[in-house]
Amino acid sequence: MEDGGGRQRLDLFLIWHSVCSKIADWTVKRYQRMKRAITRIALWVMALGATLFLCHASARLEEAAKNSPAFDDGLPPFSHLVLYSVYLYDPASCDACINNLRQIDGSKQEWAMETKAPPTATPTWKDIMPYLGRGTNSVRPYCRLGGVYIIRDMQTYPTCSVKGHKLE
Ligand SMILES: [Zn+2]
Repeated sequence: MEDGGGRQRLDLFLIWHSVCSKIADWTVKRYQRMKRAITRIALWVMALGATLFLCHASARLEEAAKNSPAFDDGLPPFSHLVLYSVYLYDPASCDACINNLRQIDGSKQEWAMETKAPPTATPTWKDIMPYLGRGTNSVRPYCRLGGVYIIRDMQTYPTCSVKGHKLE
């Protein structure tokens, strides 16, 4: 009788074991299939993205080549071309920014004349705002490439944090 009970337990254990290993097999297969599918989709998305990017970059570079004012002084450095194609460099924004710097500098001069500030004085935005544009409606200029303007003292030109945006 005891022997029979042991065999029953063994049978139960074997059934239990085979069910468990089937579930494990199924899970592993399913997981592997899913992994393959995800890899395939990721590769497709990457290929599509690369193609679209190349098309876009070449279209933008063609546009840049046609609008020669954008790159007037001969062929720009390759890095600029790459940055231009991904909108990180905009030659037109350079002119606009330098214009802003000139305006800020002009306002500084006017402020200094009016307040008789010494050359070492550094005006604040609040000080020069009335001289920027038209009276109280004046808006603080901003750099199209997200540069930060620093007014600096009366002996120094105001600066933009973007490289190449510079008064001289
Ligand atoms: Zn700037």
